Amino acid sequence: MSRATVVRPEEIRRHNLSQVLQQIHVHGEMSRAELTASLGLNRSTIGDLVADLVRRGMVDEHVPAGGDKAGRPSHVVAPRRDGPYVLAVEVEVERMVTAAVGLGGRVHVRRETPLASPLSPSGACTQIARDARWLAARMPGDARLVGVGVSVPGTVSRLDGLVVHAPNLGWRSVPFGATLRQRLGSDVRIGNNANLGAVAEHQRGAARQLRDVVYVTGSVGVGGGVIVDGAEILGAGGYAGEIGHIMLDPDGPACHCGSNGCLETFLGEHALLRAAGCAGSPGSGAVASVFSDARLGRQPAAGAVAQLAVVLGRALGILINVFNPEAIIVHDMLEEIVRLQRPAVEAEIARRSKPESRGTLRLLTPELGRDSALIGASELAFQAVVSGIE
Ligand SMILES: [Zn+2]
Repeated sequence: MSRATVVRPEEIRRHNLSQVLQQIHVHGEMSRAELTASLGLNRSTIGDLVADLVRRGMVDEHVPAGGDKAGRPSHVVAPRRDGPYVLAVEVEVERMVTAAVGLGGRVHVRRETPLASPLSPSGACTQIARDARWLAARMPGDARLVGVGVSVPGTVSRLDGLVVHAPNLGWRSVPFGATLRQRLGSDVRIGNNANLGAVAEHQRGAARQLRDVVYVTGSVGVGGGVIVDGAEILGAGGYAGEIGHIMLDPDGPACHCGSNGCLETFLGEHALLRAAGCAGSPGSGAVASVFSDARLGRQPAAGAVAQLAVVLGRALGILINVFNPEAIIVHDMLEEIVRLQRPAVEAEIARRSKPESRGTLRLLTPELGRDSALIGASELAFQAVVSGIE
């Protein structure tokens, strides 16, 4: 005989409160009527839950001016400008970006620091702590920091905030989450930059209305994030999406992961510079100058971009066969390749993927620009706030 699970009223209330907060976070301003319709709860329950969020200083309610002919207009619930905010951090090789982000995904203040060389873990902690103070000083007096989300270009364990390996930062086995938590005295969540970019574009960018999306980003390394049926794929240990290490040629160049001929060795910035016969290194402006030459049709830059376009199309063909996505979003250097060589990328996709898997696939560029991983980091921090509300 099966035993019915007993759910206590306070658990139901906590769940509903978190659902209301999630709706307002995702959609921004909403009327009580819209909340009632989207959550399937009755009007008085929604009224109580909203009043609770108002008491907690998270949202504001107002009655819209005018109203309709049928009677009283529905109250509008909106995130408070001086309500709780999270600190979003994007650690990159050439820059560090931090922002104070409020409910609803509103970026209140943003700070970008260019870097001559990648920061060490302790250097990054110091910079983040300094930025946190700088951002807090520019927020309204009542605004509270409720969490921290960090994007790292590497393999990251979300469970404990361990950076397993971030090759381009030179970090290995760094307990970054724990160190930063101690330093800031706040809850800290850490994610991989491409996974977070995928989440951000799905929630607030180019893939808002879509349920099956692959996001691929490329600079020095190549990474990816996959959304299947509206949910992010993390894998057993949280390491899914290592698209850069799909093996294309077993006899290809050695990769830092220990294998050979990984996609990253044919599609990253090193590969572009090699193909363009350029002696420069990534980050020195050499990559930008290859693209500006290619835009003018100058060789060997144009040929190098065309060569990488074929590799990109091949890789996307594999992803299409595996995931059958509605859209693929290409970010950073890969976005630039698609801008210059879209027909070549699409022709290679058509050669390498099954027509039924390709379907009506759209090849998109990000709507959040370079900030997709930063916004994704804020979403990671808000997930903890929304699901942990009591
Ligand atoms: Zn590899």
